[in-house]
Amino acid sequence: MEFPEALAIYIHIPFCRWRCSYCDFNIYAGMQRWFAPYIEALGKEIRRFGEQAGQPLARTIYIGGGTPSLLPLPLLARLFEALHTAFRIPPSIEITMEANPSGLSVAYLEEVRRLGVNRISFGVQSAHHEELHLMRRDHTFEDACAHIAMARAAGFTNLNVDLIYGLPGQTLARWQETLEAVLALRPEHLSAYALMVEERTALQRWIREGRVPMPDPDLAAEMYEEARERLAEAGYRHYEISNWARPGYESRHNMVYWRYEPYIGFGAGAHSFIDGRRWVNALHPKDYIRRIEQGESPIAEEETLHPRTQMAEMVILGLRLVEEGIEDARFRARFGQGILEVYGSVVRELEELGLVRWDGARLRLTGRGSMLGNQVFWRFL
Ligand code: SF4
Repeated sequence: MEFPEALAIYIHIPFCRWRCSYCDFNIYAGMQRWFAPYIEALGKEIRRFGEQAGQPLARTIYIGGGTPSLLPLPLLARLFEALHTAFRIPPSIEITMEANPSGLSVAYLEEVRRLGVNRISFGVQSAHHEELHLMRRDHTFEDACAHIAMARAAGFTNLNVDLIYGLPGQTLARWQETLEAVLALRPEHLSAYALMVEERTALQRWIREGRVPMPDPDLAAEMYEEARERLAEAGYRHYEISNWARPGYESRHNMVYWRYEPYIGFGAGAHSFIDGRRWVNALHPKDYIRRIEQGESPIAEEETLHPRTQMAEMVILGLRLVEEGIEDARFRARFGQGILEVYGSVVRELEELGLVRWDGARLRLTGRGSMLGNQVFWRFL
């Protein structure tokens, strides 16, 4: 396989204190004694890749999960040692770490910053105690405020706050209060995702048993509209369907995904995408560790994507960038055909429905299209 000159790097830390009620991610609770063997295995996987790929340049690094901020500092330091051995890491690149606003200190965050992390993404989710309780989060909103103040005191100047709207029983007024409370914290970046009731989650069970009402999708659409208006008024650019940033603070790592550029993922269940090939590592940390320790590949599944699938994915991901959209020149450079040559009739139909705009060089979602994204996306499949 040809390795690109520079790569975005994702590191998966699959551990959480417990599972939030809505979460179906690849995470595991109560595995503290596996933290050290996991980081050891992760270091080996990273170093192995670095040797094989000839110490490529890192474009961005994203340490996600799970809850990476559960890791003790010596283990985080080991992870960074491996990254510096395997990659050339320019000092200017974006290095993000996800954190739950619970149990951290200024000293911990200062040390995280010293290791090279320059962006923290806090899972705040709501400013309301009952909503946080319903989500089974391990923090209060007061904890979130205190942790954001700690991150500022530790010198972080690039913070993201994750929010969830469309919760069972949530009113528009409550969502407005959350938005106001979070705006007062002045984060550089905000992500707001509509709640999805996933299979086999506690939340799905509670809804099925009638203990919790079903979320109202029309109300969720109103909440999205409210976020768009209020965040624009507060000076945030709505650059991706679910993401807002102060100018210059757009997530560079996530831009790589939305622009359909290559990335490498390390750790249990991490995904990678290079040169039209996609693979995913073994999901369970114990299986992942065993494979690495026995010198086996951690890859559980891989596929080479048909060019037609790649075209559809590039358009769908590109359309998520509501301002930038998908540039015809980039599409053509990759596939040797323009967007209209491949999707002319679909684009015309979506234009008539008022869901997309084609300006001769780019395809973008309209405001209505960004609310009805899924109705647009499936037409390219
Ligand atoms: S903290 Fe995040 S990853 Fe962990 S259980 Fe909650 S939602 Fe899932």
